[in-house]
Formats: sequence, structure tokens, C-alpha cells
Amino acid sequence: MKNIEHDSGFHHIGHKLLDWYGKNARNLPFRNTKDPYKIWICEIVFQQTRITQGLNHYNNFIKRFPDVQTLATAEEDEVLLYWKGLGYYSRAINIHKAAQQIINEYHGVFPSEYEEILQLKGVGKYTAAAISSICFGAKLPAVDGNFYRVLSRIFADDFDVSTSQAFTYFSQLAHLILPENAGDFNQAMMDLGSEICKPKNPLCPECPLREDCLAFSLDRVSEFPVKKKKVKTVDLALKYYFVHRDGRFLIQQRKDDFIWKKLFEFPSEIPEELIPFIKSVKMISHKLTHKNLSIEIFNVEVDSAEVWEDFIGKNEYVITDFEGSHEKSFPKPLENYIQNYHTAYRFL
Ligand code: SF4
Repeated sequence: MKNIEHDSGFHHIGHKLLDWYGKNARNLPFRNTKDPYKIWICEIVFQQTRITQGLNHYNNFIKRFPDVQTLATAEEDEVLLYWKGLGYYSRAINIHKAAQQIINEYHGVFPSEYEEILQLKGVGKYTAAAISSICFGAKLPAVDGNFYRVLSRIFADDFDVSTSQAFTYFSQLAHLILPENAGDFNQAMMDLGSEICKPKNPLCPECPLREDCLAFSLDRVSEFPVKKKKVKTVDLALKYYFVHRDGRFLIQQRKDDFIWKKLFEFPSEIPEELIPFIKSVKMISHKLTHKNLSIEIFNVEVDSAEVWEDFIGKNEYVITDFEGSHEKSFPKPLENYIQNYHTAYRFL
């Protein structure tokens, strides 16, 4: 960036992007509002979820929790239920806590300053910049992976995006092209990054910035962004016991925060007296971000009423059935397992 540090001749790039956005902005429900509550929910929902996949969830969530007050006073389990299918449930838990924070610390009025928004539970620099620029006119770039990719291509800049300094570096670079209307600019970058300057096979001939893009003019687009460090993937083995009788089964809420915080799961151990009821075992592989899970699920069909009654009388598990399980949130592989069990059980 050393050659361009003092150069103010790059703002036309931001303006070109705004012109393009004016004609091509995607018609999304959260584009017609400056309500910080809705923009906040939208930013969190779409952090790790594609727009097409998350749109129904976003609409349903806003319908049930239309404002901070409704969300803050809801039960956490219900918030988790409305998050079902989006994954990364800690986001829902944080949203719920932050809503209560807004009630307690800001008398229910969404804070308008970047620094205050940043203090809300689960809100990082990107989200705080997005909300304060879109809703309150702050002149801040909302720097995320899209910015890293687009800027490193425009400037053919080989700064390593996997380093911890990347955020500060690309924030400075973004300021070089940032127009007054940072809110629209940030949304334009979001659209450009997902529709045109995509990670793979970017549509350069259709790009409004191609005349200014150094990587394009040098025919080196595929070299950017530069990412040197590979994130390590962890292998994790989990064991569950699906203990059931007459269509009812045992579940418990997760206490371990490592993955699937607060979701429901099957027991991870059983006492000696249930071991003889193990009928089969199923192995499931499941991928989470940077984690490969091997899940072993033992099918424990307790075909003795006496043992079943004795066991559930002595333990504090939640007992549910297929319909009841819809009221709870489960990790995806367990939800699939329950669905398969239900399908098989109906034909017994
Ligand atoms: S010309 Fe291609 S590489 Fe450059 S910003 Fe546009 S889409 Fe991205």
C-alpha cells in the first residue's frame, strides 16, 4: 500500500460502485429499511449463511420478534427454535442477550454510536460498522472477507489475508475508495462480492470496476487474495445412546460450549443395565467449520417396561417423542437421525 498511502485519487472507484449498486442492488427485504434492529438481525443471520438459504429464516424471525422488546422478553428456547436450520446457534444466544442489554443499558433504544454498538454481545467490528453506516450515516467501511478479496484484486495487493493484521490493513485500503455514503457502499461491496467478484470464477467482463482493477489488467486475478496460513481442522469423535421405547426417547440439553451450545442431544453414556438393549450402531460423519466429527450412535431399544420405568424414574433426562422433538433444537446429524428413526418406526 506504500505507493498509494497519500493518494486521494481512488475515490472514483467507490463512486462507480455506488452507480452500479443504484442500478443493480438486489431487492432484499432488509434493503428497504434503516431500522437498526432489522439490519442487526440481518447482518447476524447472513454472517455464515447464504442469502438464498437464510431469507425465509430472516423473514420468520422478524415476524415473530419484530422489535428489541419482543426478542428480549422471549424465552431463550423459543429464540433457538426460530434459529433452527441456520446453525451456529451461539449467534442466536448472543442476539437474545444483546436484546436484553439494549433494554437494560439503553432503555430499549438501539444505540447509534459505533463504539456502543460494538459493546453489544456477539457484535464485532464488521457488524458494528455495517449498522452504524447503514442506519446512522457513519463513514465507516464494514470490512469482511468480501473486502479482502475485492480490494486485494483491485490493487493487486499481496497482503496475506490470513494474518491478524489483515483487518486493519484492508480497513485502511477501504478508506481510500470510501465515498460519503458508506452505508450504500458497504451494501454494494456485499453485492459485488457475492454476485460478481466471487471467490471462484469472478465475472470480470461484467464488473463495474474492471477498468480500475489492477489484477484484471495484469491478468492475475486468480492470484488474489493471498492466503498463506491454512487453518487446522480438528477431528472429533462423539458417542451417543439413542435410548427409546414405544416412540419415546431420552434427550438432554448440552452443557459443553465447545460445539452446539445449548442444543439438545441424546445421552452420551448409559448405565450397565441398559447395555444389553443395544440393538445396533450407526456411524455418521459430519463437518463443521474447521472440525470433522465422527459420531457413533447406539440404538438402545428398551423392550422391558420395568427397566424403562425404573431408569427414567431415577434419571433426569427429558423424555420426548417425534412431535415433541420439533419444539427443541438439535444438531443437524441428530435431527436427521430422529427423522430416520421416525420414518422406520411408523412402519413397524
Ligand atoms: S475486475 Fe474482476 S477481479 Fe477485478 S474487481 Fe472486478 S470482478 Fe473482481
